[in-house]
Amino acid sequence: MSQHIYDITVIGGGPVGMFATFYAGLRNADVHLIESLPQLGGQTLALYPEKEIYDVAGFPHIKGKDLVSQLEQQMAAFEPKVTLDTSVKTLTQDDNGVFEIGTDQETFYSKSVIIAIGTGAFAPRKLAFDYDPALEGTYVNYYVNDLADFKDIDVAIAGGGDSAIDWALALNEIAKSVTIIHRRDKFRGLESSVEKMKQSTINIKTPYLLNDLTLTDQRLNIDLKKMKSDDHETITADKLLVNYGFTSDSRILRNWAIDLKGADVKVDHNMHTSRELVYSVGDSAYYEGKVKLIATGFGEVPAAVNDALETLYPERKQPLHSTSIFN
Ligand SMILES: Cc1cc2nc3c(=O)[nH]c(=O)nc-3n(C[C@H](O)[C@H](O)[C@H](O)COP(=O)(O)OP(=O)(O)OC[C@H]3O[C@@H](n4cnc5c(N)ncnc54)[C@H](O)[C@@H]3O)c2cc1C
Repeated sequence: MSQHIYDITVIGGGPVGMFATFYAGLRNADVHLIESLPQLGGQTLALYPEKEIYDVAGFPHIKGKDLVSQLEQQMAAFEPKVTLDTSVKTLTQDDNGVFEIGTDQETFYSKSVIIAIGTGAFAPRKLAFDYDPALEGTYVNYYVNDLADFKDIDVAIAGGGDSAIDWALALNEIAKSVTIIHRRDKFRGLESSVEKMKQSTINIKTPYLLNDLTLTDQRLNIDLKKMKSDDHETITADKLLVNYGFTSDSRILRNWAIDLKGADVKVDHNMHTSRELVYSVGDSAYYEGKVKLIATGFGEVPAAVNDALETLYPERKQPLHSTSIFN
């Protein structure tokens, strides 16, 4: 069976992996980006979408979510292949040196690899009790893929951070009702957003912990337990959105036959790892004096991409400056 072999596969769709994908496209590479979450943006979108970032060149300040959206727009110029919701597990090579990138979905092939996995694969922190797994994706959601799914229905949101509050405010515009449930009386969000939520029609249930979920007549019964008490209360909703944050795990790197420094990947001045044609950029890359910032990761990308392409195609001489590419 013939399989597509990319020039460069970027593992990890955080801001640095997204920029690497764009830059590889700019350098005429056939590039593939694989991201474990159903969304791009890494820590910036998952952990601080509303935070203003002040140290990315060219932006006096920009919200995390807006930087990700700009990167998405920049990346789209070269229509790269993007595979979401897919976690890379193994990195092996066939007899011809082609990388076999084993994921939890299928195997992909590439001539070189750029590891941009940050602090490791992100996964949403799940509800702390057992519930029918069939509810997930329909009644119980950990992401909002399409706002329209929440139109004119009763929505319950679990969580007390920025993300939960932002979704409560956004969904309150289109849902029939929104109830936010948090185990503390005090929310951990931006003060102005918390205030906006308190002034809105959003129902606020604190301090309650979600205790159980059942389905009756296509409605969720959500059993809530009041903190530090034996009191229970049941609310009903059409959908539950859980916003308990994310966990990350980079232990997978130990099986990829590359030298590590603690949990990070050791690289040289070209961001090259100890394995031929495998590079690392962004938070996952380690060298002496490394500073884990978005700007640092962006700066590392050209070295990795250009070195990979010069190694793969030594005969292909390209101009270095982007303007001449668009001429
Ligand atoms: C609260 C907070 C505030 C911050 N503020 C700033 C700031 O103001 N300025 C600044 O410059 N930096 C800031 N940072 C740091 C900045 O977010 C990171 O430096 C940046 O996100 C690194 O980008 P990255 O693409 O290397 O990694 P990440 O953003 O961590 O993205 C890595 C991506 O790889 C994916 N992934 C991991 N493993 C796999 C796998 N096996 N298969 C497929 N995909 C995988 C992950 O799901 C993730 O999406 C902040 C960080 C935090 C937590």
